Order: sequence, then structure tokens, then C-alpha cells
Amino acid sequence: MIDLHTHTDESDGTFSPKELIEEARRVGLQALAITDHDTFAGYDLAVPHAERCGVELICGIEVSTKYSGHSIHLLAYFLRRVPSHEFRKWITSLQTSRQRRNEALVQKLCSRGVPITLEDVKASGRKVIARPHFASVLVERGYAISREDAFERYLDEGASCFVAREEPTFDEAIGQIRTSDALAVLPHPGRLNVTQEQMETMVREMCDLGLVGIEAYHSDHSRAQMEYYSSMSRKCGIAITGGSDFHGATKPDIALGTGIGGNLNTPYALLDELRQLR
Ligand code: AMP
Ligand code: FE
Ligand code: FE
Ligand code: ZN
Repeated sequence: MIDLHTHTDESDGTFSPKELIEEARRVGLQALAITDHDTFAGYDLAVPHAERCGVELICGIEVSTKYSGHSIHLLAYFLRRVPSHEFRKWITSLQTSRQRRNEALVQKLCSRGVPITLEDVKASGRKVIARPHFASVLVERGYAISREDAFERYLDEGASCFVAREEPTFDEAIGQIRTSDALAVLPHPGRLNVTQEQMETMVREMCDLGLVGIEAYHSDHSRAQMEYYSSMSRKCGIAITGGSDFHGATKPDIALGTGIGGNLNTPYALLDELRQLR
């Protein structure tokens, strides 16, 4: 069993890189990819722990992009070489746009009677501050009764304080990934609110731009969705991947490797296929 989609507390997960590696060993993962939002800090810190624990660790990252009006995430896997200096610089620029969004989000919350500061939010996270950190503070301060409530009332797209982030276009992001000789994979396609026909058109366009895999196995997907996205990958001639999208305590139903209710168990053979892509 492998898990190619996980987050540490360097982005919006709650496990430290060391704890995540130890959990990977505990559940018997053969390979683990750390795919934090907009940072390699979790991966970088995990490397010595993975060596010590004998866990095969893969360098990855998850970025948010804009694709014809949709917000689409992209995973990048550095299976062939480590991220270049240029790629790391590009990632730093994404962190800057996130910081600007976070500042605007604090202002909007304050203007709507929720007086929190950026320092309050930063205290609940590390390298990358994301909306789940805001949700934690809103719950702690009694402005929401749960994290879901915090998203519904303040943070979700369409909620009262939502602030859109400047995101790179899908084309720009996949270009950066390919230039760095990394592999671009579409995570959790089941979250996209489109028809099957639109989905197929989109995936074909993405393949033309350089997409090499679809995350058919994901905690959000039903068995039928896993089969649907697997056969779509096969039809398009691209790889099938799988990951739990483990975040630790903020998404407590999701277990590392096995997802929700033991449904995942991505086989190691899929990682071999990803490695053999040309
Ligand atoms: P950000 O990148 O700062 O916009 O935050 C996005 C992250 O927030 C996602 O990766 C999810 O982990 C989390 N998230 C987004 N929407 C929700 C929601 N409705 N409920 C809980 N978590 C969410
Ligand atoms: Fe997340
Ligand atoms: Fe995602
Ligand atoms: Zn993720």
C-alpha cells in the first residue's frame, strides 16, 4: 500500500513531518508522498526521519490553479530529480499571494465584526497559513461552533468573508511543473462540479497541456468514482494514482493509506507505472 497525497503541519495538516513518517511506518506504507500546499518545508524536514524509519519518501507539492473559471488543484511529483531552484522560487511567489489573501481575509473578518489578527492565525500554523487555520481560530474564539460552521459562515467560496486568491493559471502551473521535470497529476477530480462530458473534455485538454496522471483513488471518491476515473486514465493513456489527502486531526475520518472506512489501499504497482512514464 502507498499514499501519494498527504499534508503535514507545514501546511494545513496537523502531523509534524516526523509524526507523519512514524505514522507511515506504523500503518505499513511502502511509499509516502508529502504534498503540502505551496511548500516543500514538510518534505525537507521529513527526509532524515524517512531514512531512519526506512520509509520510501517521495517529494511532492499541491498547488491551486485557475482553469476556465474553476479552481483546480494540481499535484507535482519529483520522481526524477529534486525541485530546481527556479521551481522553489516560483513556489515562494505563490506563498506571497497567499499572504496577501490572508491579510485581506483578516481585514474582511474584522469589518464583519470578527476581530482577529494575522498573528492569532499565524500562531496556529507554521510555514503556510491556509483557511483551516482561520477556521481553528474562529472556533476557539467562539465565532463558529465547528470548523464546518466556520467555513459555511465565513470562509467558503460564497460565504460572507471569502477572499479570492490570485492563483496561477493551470497552463502556467503545469508549465512550471514540466520545466522542472516533475510529473503533473490531477487530484480529487470528483470534487469538480461538472458533467461527465465536460469532465472528459477537460481531462483531454489537460493531457494536451502535459497532465500525466489522475488521482482515481482518493478519500472523497466512491468505489464507482474510483472505477470511472481509472478507466478515464486508461482511455487517455495516462497514469492512475492514489492518495488519502491525509490532514490529521482536521480531517479525522481520513486515515493515512486507507482513507475513509479502509476504502483506499493504493497498490505499489501504480507508483512503478508512474516511474516508467516517458
Ligand atoms: P486555502 O488554500 O487557504 O484556500 O485553504 C484550502 C484548504 O481548506 C483545503 O486544502 C482544505 O483542506 C480546506 N477546506 C476547503 N474548504 C473546506 C470546507 N468547506 N471545510 C473544511 N475544510 C475545507
Ligand atoms: Fe488542505
Ligand atoms: Fe486538494
Ligand atoms: Zn491535498
